[in-house]
Amino acid sequence: MWDTHLHTEFSGDSQAKVGDMIAAGRAKGLSGMTFTDHLDWNYPKEPGRFDLDFYGYHDAMNRALTENPDIEIRTGIEIGLQPHLAERHREFLNKVPFDFVIGSIHVVDGMDPYYPEYFEGRNGDEGYGQYFECMKQNIVEFSDFDTLGHLDYVVRYGLRNLGAVQGAMTFSKHRDVIEEILDFLIKNEKSLEVNTGSFRNNMTEPNPSYEIIRLYREMGGRLITIGSDAHKPENVADGFEKVVPRLREMGFSSQAVYISRIIHEMPL
Ligand SMILES: [Zn+2]
Ligand SMILES: [Zn+2]
Repeated sequence: MWDTHLHTEFSGDSQAKVGDMIAAGRAKGLSGMTFTDHLDWNYPKEPGRFDLDFYGYHDAMNRALTENPDIEIRTGIEIGLQPHLAERHREFLNKVPFDFVIGSIHVVDGMDPYYPEYFEGRNGDEGYGQYFECMKQNIVEFSDFDTLGHLDYVVRYGLRNLGAVQGAMTFSKHRDVIEEILDFLIKNEKSLEVNTGSFRNNMTEPNPSYEIIRLYREMGGRLITIGSDAHKPENVADGFEKVVPRLREMGFSSQAVYISRIIHEMPL
């Protein structure tokens, strides 16, 4: 197994040392790890917090690579998409090479649903609808990513900020826009990420939910990446044992791993 969504101290919200993360991956029996530190330009509230020091990051990863020949280490990035940043992101990726790019939506109209004010004055479904519309707009304007990160990230924080009742997502209300997003991924041969960071947030399913993953499969989607989104060594490969059997049952037979932006399908 590979864990293809991992953070280190080069992310504004992690203190984890690269070496400690790798030791944890080795202990869990992973065959490969793709690190994906945050780049979120124009992050609200704390501007600059998620501006990645990509040269320092690359240096640390290159050192880790030579020091750990027994496990495959790859250097990816998780880019926080916002429509006005599309051109800047394209230029950046042309200049700085990565093995793997996760496109994630953390900010909607200047607000991160992580913070309670995103949901102020509205219920979960209203906040979710805006998030999915924004996601659709983002991926159309910027599609130079390999996998779409935690598609229903917003629900994770809706549940936390509004509780289980107010924060429950009514799938039928969002099905059309979610289908459009999944259709875009399938037509453009992008992967859908299965993110198990949800389990650390008291959820019983990954992000996105099994319902969305099943819909993707039914629509013909085949390509999935799997990542724990660990920001600490103890969370590496979290929940994989729960998710992998479910994915197999749904008909997925491989996990996508990217090396120099080229897809490799590893047996699941
Ligand atoms: Zn993220
Ligand atoms: Zn992440």
